[in-house]
Amino acid sequence: MSNILFRCPNTGMNVQHFVAEPSSKKEDAAIMVVNCPACTRIHLVNGATGELARDTRSR
Ligand SMILES: [Zn+2]
Repeated sequence: MSNILFRCPNTGMNVQHFVAEPSSKKEDAAIMVVNCPACTRIHLVNGATGELARDTRSR
């Protein structure tokens, strides 16, 4: 088990999320849905880099 660290875009807090199955696939498959404890919403986080995936629908 591994964990990733990302910044919640809504609260600006650093959130640590534990990942049961580390992805060994390509970057495109590393995007995971994370239930954010800081803002109680969900974020799309790249499990390989810990960066937030950009929501292309917002534009
Ligand atoms: Zn959040």
